[in-house]
Amino acid sequence: MERTPIIETQNLVGEEVNLFGWVATRRDHGKLIFVDLRDRSGTVQVVFVPSSQSTYELASKLRSEWVVRLKGKIKARPEKMFNPDIPTGKVEIEPLELEILNESETPPIALDTDGYETGEESRMTYRYLDLRRPRLLKNLSKRHEMILFIRNWLSKTGFMEIETPILTKSTPEGARDYVVPSRLYPGKFFALPQSPQQYKQLLMVAGVEKYFQIARCFRDEDTRGDRQPEFTQLDLEMSFVDREAVMEANEKLLIGLVNSSYPDKKIQEVPFPRISYKESMEKYGTDRPDMRKDKNDSNLLAFCWVIDFPFFSAEGGPASGGETKWTFTHNPFSAPKPEFMDDLLNQKNIGGILTTQYDIVLNGWEIGGGSIRNHRPEALEAVFKVMGFNKDRIEGNFGHMIQALKYGAPPHGGIAWGLDRLVSILQGEPNIREVMAFPKTGDARDLMMESPSELDEKQLKELHIKVAHE
Ligand code: ASP
Repeated sequence: MERTPIIETQNLVGEEVNLFGWVATRRDHGKLIFVDLRDRSGTVQVVFVPSSQSTYELASKLRSEWVVRLKGKIKARPEKMFNPDIPTGKVEIEPLELEILNESETPPIALDTDGYETGEESRMTYRYLDLRRPRLLKNLSKRHEMILFIRNWLSKTGFMEIETPILTKSTPEGARDYVVPSRLYPGKFFALPQSPQQYKQLLMVAGVEKYFQIARCFRDEDTRGDRQPEFTQLDLEMSFVDREAVMEANEKLLIGLVNSSYPDKKIQEVPFPRISYKESMEKYGTDRPDMRKDKNDSNLLAFCWVIDFPFFSAEGGPASGGETKWTFTHNPFSAPKPEFMDDLLNQKNIGGILTTQYDIVLNGWEIGGGSIRNHRPEALEAVFKVMGFNKDRIEGNFGHMIQALKYGAPPHGGIAWGLDRLVSILQGEPNIREVMAFPKTGDARDLMMESPSELDEKQLKELHIKVAHE
């Protein structure tokens, strides 16, 4: 029995089709029963009349979210009955056969709304129902479409997608690590990657030249704004490039992506303007400037690159009665701008050193960032020395990177995009949870799976873990 996606009924007037889907709503009007039938592709109205006795009696039992098969004839609606709000609004279905495939308990959340009005707790507890909303299924399908475009575009331009480990090593990269206890090595731990940064650089040492990955990243940060413990990056890295080459390649990809997935949107300025960190702070008071000339236009996209960031920022210092401690502003693996390499190697003018870091900003949101890396071991070592790491600490945390750079590492650089953020902006969504299938709640829990959860004694013992209940 062939199935017709509901959206196609708009073009098949006069035909008999088999539809499969969910009862979105049932309304009884006098003797008529109106059912909106929904599948992933759309919704269509079915009208049950008492004269078709068998289908009518069954239809009177239908409730929201029951699953049915409906064989029906597609009829054109009289013009004054058109529904301009849905693509199938010019047709309706005359039922010929109705089969109930599954019943549903009354859903605990309303599904015939866009969902913004429903509390996060119930939406996340019943995410598999929440996702049935056309808005959310559309977000997932757009996200899929965009990732597919990215994969194809990068593959065509010589990039290879390579998976890198999820079980890796804890290193001070900026955020707190999620750690995984090792059963075989008591007292030792893996860490989940904050990003594939080190692996992608090691792939450059390995001669891959052009790498990308739709990569999951994990950061155990306290809830701050619209963040998620795990999120997705488009991560990429290229060998034998300078800053301009990486920016240019990304710009082309972004423009291609917008043109293909959002032809109605307009990019304000191409090439994307480049603005220095200093100028951005002076002019806009932020390093994520919103450059839109018309902020009311939901179809306007103002991309820009922010460049020339300071490499290091000072913590403490004489003003607070202590010694100045330096930390990196973005990424410890970044190279300084070439004219500051001597300063870095000689540990002077630390606060004045500018990095090759570039951030890509869209309508006031940072959607990605990257840099040219230090491909010489002495330069990477110098970064850690500036940060006050002694030899043992450098060796313990980053020995593998410094070692790898000693074997003919090519000059290289890359970037990572926050894919969830990009999709949410393009879809006009207020936060990244709306474009992720199963996000955590604002306080980092999965209410549907009820995690994090406790382990039983046996598991804890195997992992050599004793829980200190405070
Ligand atoms: N690994 C960096 C990050 O996650 C991005 C990059 O420099 O490629 O922010």
